Amino acid sequence: MLGSLQSIHVPMKRFKDDEEVDYAIVGVGSAGGVLLQRLARAGFNVVGLEAGPFWDTERDWVSDEAGSHNLYWTEPRVTGGSDPLALGANNCGKGVGGGSVHWASFTPRLHPSDFEVYTRDGVGVDWPITYDDIKPYYEQLELEMPVAGPAYYSWGHPHGYAYGPHPMGGVGNALIKGCTALDIPVSIGGPVAILSGSHGDRPHCIYRGFCIQGCKVGAKASTLITHVPDALRSGAEIRDFSMVSRIELGKENRVRGVHYIDKHGDPHFQRAKAVIVSGYSIETPRLLLNSACKGYEEGLANSSGVLGHYLMAQAGNVVLGRFDQPVRMYKAPPAHALTEEFYETDPKNDFARGFAIQTVGPLPQAFGKQMLAAKKAWGWGLRREMMDYNHWAAFGLLGEILPWADNRVTISEDKDGFGLPVAHVSFNLHDNDKKLIKAAKEKTMQVMQAAGANEVVQEARYAHLVGGCRMGSDPRRSVVDKFGRTHDIANLFVCDGSVFPTQGSANPGLTIQALAARTADYLISQGDRIFTTNDRDLTAPSIRRELAPPETWGKGVPRLK
Ligand SMILES: Cc1cc2nc3c(=O)[nH]c(=O)nc-3n(C[C@H](O)[C@H](O)[C@H](O)COP(=O)(O)OP(=O)(O)OC[C@H]3O[C@@H](n4cnc5c(N)ncnc54)[C@H](O)[C@@H]3O)c2cc1C
Ligand code: SF4
Repeated sequence: MLGSLQSIHVPMKRFKDDEEVDYAIVGVGSAGGVLLQRLARAGFNVVGLEAGPFWDTERDWVSDEAGSHNLYWTEPRVTGGSDPLALGANNCGKGVGGGSVHWASFTPRLHPSDFEVYTRDGVGVDWPITYDDIKPYYEQLELEMPVAGPAYYSWGHPHGYAYGPHPMGGVGNALIKGCTALDIPVSIGGPVAILSGSHGDRPHCIYRGFCIQGCKVGAKASTLITHVPDALRSGAEIRDFSMVSRIELGKENRVRGVHYIDKHGDPHFQRAKAVIVSGYSIETPRLLLNSACKGYEEGLANSSGVLGHYLMAQAGNVVLGRFDQPVRMYKAPPAHALTEEFYETDPKNDFARGFAIQTVGPLPQAFGKQMLAAKKAWGWGLRREMMDYNHWAAFGLLGEILPWADNRVTISEDKDGFGLPVAHVSFNLHDNDKKLIKAAKEKTMQVMQAAGANEVVQEARYAHLVGGCRMGSDPRRSVVDKFGRTHDIANLFVCDGSVFPTQGSANPGLTIQALAARTADYLISQGDRIFTTNDRDLTAPSIRRELAPPETWGKGVPRLK
């Protein structure tokens, strides 16, 4: 029943109900998909438990905005704080591939400065790893997706991309025009995880703009098509419609498996020698908090009290400009040009850290909602704006909001359809965040004006949640160590965007997948020790390129080092 890009020609392995697996992975999304593939290829018995469906790209996906809404996690959640986040359609995915199915697939790397924000700028916190620790994994994942972009990318640590940049659509042209007029360098045609040429069985992009509806063509990378087929070929099992409700703590301070509920509402228990939670920045803290038990009354692996705290979202205001000439912003991937010229702390500013400006190409329904928010358009007025859709361009700013303890996930009294307490997400902007957003908004509007827009409006919004289970070296101030192992429990790991200590103003997806590959290398290098001892060995693993999906390493043109 699976689409041609996903077919594996062998039946998926099925572990017996009472069989103990090596690793149970909760959530087969951006991080979970990469982990599952690596661990299966290394010969571990591994099962991925995924709350949503196993998508068949040909059967299930439609080129229709409304019809793609089931790609999102739209279960109930409670939002609060002084600046509540909109939860639902703009957060995480549900189903195999997770958020990588509906991401726009901008794939910039974090900058070296992101890993030492506290040391350099006196704000936030430093990461327990440096840019050099993750660099080989960036290079690796950029080939596994693969990423298209310019031959020389100057921001952060300069590097190039093996696959050539994409041609520009109308929005990209507007960004180039605006930036050029203001003497702001701009990157054209990437970095995006969209094929600019054919690659194996996958065709190149056909520029029809449905990326965040789950590219039916298969030109855009998602772990569903880049890593999951190889995971299954290598002996992994994925159980879809399996909602993990609790992680069970056994003897000797070790977890012994996970409880989950299948699509018929029946409960199951999967025994595992180790558990990895990869459920996204809201669902991962929620599951650990819901797994509170004797000895961990405030949440599993939460002796620090930090679990759920330091949740971050990037400021994601959308600036819309109307042009006399048609722009037709649907005719290209929404992600195709950006500038990171304002990424780093600038001593001339009254705030620390910075922002990026990127193309966004909302389809008509999203555009209608933006006009509603930006211009209070309604009724006939909204209809008139929507009839004018082809004349509008949209840029998005991506602003670094700092990690604050009061931005957090807790457990609400409300329950979901399974009777499980849902997440309460509290979000508050602080002084630095407000100043940064104001400056970023003004700059993005200036660029739109410089591009020639005769009307410029904006909608305030947020994007890309990360944090909540931050990594760090100090067990009193973080939840996991530099490899994603919880400080409290030696065979319980977290591997997804929730481990970010800070977020920069780069889109997080590439870093999430790179960290997953690094965690996998660590687990593989530790072998059975993970299953047999509570002792910790923090020796960094060597990179295992041979475990990448076949035909991905060493392809493309030579890259700049
Ligand atoms: C519209 C949109 C556009 C985006 N564009 C970009 C972009 O251009 N570039 C970029 O880098 N990022 C982008 N992102 C963000 C990116 O998609 C996410 O940061 C990333 O996918 C998060 O990865 P993750 O592994 O943390 O979680 P996910 O990929 O969301 O995976 C989590 C998985 O766990 C499952 N799960 C959760 N709880 C349970 C449970 N209890 N039991 C079983 N399964 C569970 C979920 O169903 C899901 O499949 C975008 C996001 C959105 C919403
Ligand atoms: S624009 Fe390209 S990547 Fe996006 S949905 Fe269409 S074919 Fe896929």
